[in-house]
Amino acid sequence: MATSHPYDVVIVGAGPAGMCAALYTGRSMLRTAVLERGIPGGELLNTEKLDDWIGEKSILGWELAKKFEEHSREFGAEYVTATVERITKLRDGTFETVTDSGDRYVSPAVIVTAGGTPVKLGIPGEIEFAGKGVSYCAICDGAFFKQQTIAVVGGGDAAVEEAEFLTRYADKVYVVHRRDSFRASRILQERLFANPKIEVIWNAVAEEVTGDERGLMTGLRIRDRVSDEVRSLDASGCFVFIGFHPNTGVIDGHFDHDEMGYVRTDTTMQTSIPGLFAAGDLRSQLTRQVTTAVGDATTAAIAVEKYLKTRDEGSHEIVAQGSGGYTA
Ligand code: NAP
Repeated sequence: MATSHPYDVVIVGAGPAGMCAALYTGRSMLRTAVLERGIPGGELLNTEKLDDWIGEKSILGWELAKKFEEHSREFGAEYVTATVERITKLRDGTFETVTDSGDRYVSPAVIVTAGGTPVKLGIPGEIEFAGKGVSYCAICDGAFFKQQTIAVVGGGDAAVEEAEFLTRYADKVYVVHRRDSFRASRILQERLFANPKIEVIWNAVAEEVTGDERGLMTGLRIRDRVSDEVRSLDASGCFVFIGFHPNTGVIDGHFDHDEMGYVRTDTTMQTSIPGLFAAGDLRSQLTRQVTTAVGDATTAAIAVEKYLKTRDEGSHEIVAQGSGGYTA
């Protein structure tokens, strides 16, 4: 039976941002619920290895996720496996966060850290062969392609990094990119160019994923944007890394966002809806890293504490400047 649960703060999503926010709100003695549809970890679970988490020269994505989760639980945050369908601000100023089972979480503040969803190519065969060759997660599916030939589509950090990772399994990895240069960071590009198993196909767009009568992918049809020549790559896998869409669909009502749909916040991570905070990959900002996600989350959690205090005192304004400080 659907029930109603009162909390001081509800955190939607348990990626790095959600888990870090939970650590800080728990540490502030706020009754905290973290609602996550899958295993806590978010994009860390789609990342093989990190070499840019300060303090660790190299750490596996799942390992860091586990550490985040264990640490955030230390301060009392309650993790609930649930898919959030809607976050609505009620007339009394509190939020109602409703899950797919109909459970209602009621809280005066919410931190949305729901991240993003991979962008699809939108070409014939992509959906048909999803899970039968087409993938959006190298760490999840890479091992299925041992000694095979696969294609990666995209030219950002994700495509370049994951193409390199996939050479652990595949004998040959084509990287199909629509322009003649990558936007990925230089260090990732250098690793990719040095890898003999990788062949970059510049100025090419993927047009169709093809397969056999058993329903398995066998090829990727690509078109050269300069010559217009069409050819088919013999590939049993196609990993698509062409960006993310912010998961903002759960927010009921209008909120300020940028032209790409990412949520705009003020410097305290508060959205245009008072009491609703955003942190991590769905927030409008220059870059989306684990370090920036946890930075956002720290600010959001501390701002929530101040928001609840000022709310109780009858004012909704959070004063950011000079109100923070280092605490150990
Ligand atoms: P991204 O940086 O936005 O790159 C998307 C890539 O896909 C671009 O090369 C883009 O081409 C291409 N693309 C977009 N739409 C396409 C389409 N319809 N068909 C073919 N190609 C298409 O996205 P991302 O690589 O997923 O990274 C997202 C964020 O996470 C970034 O801020 C990134 O820095 C971060 N990230 C960091 C790391 C790391 O530091 N280790 C790893 C993963 C992700 P154009 O270049 O032509 O636009």
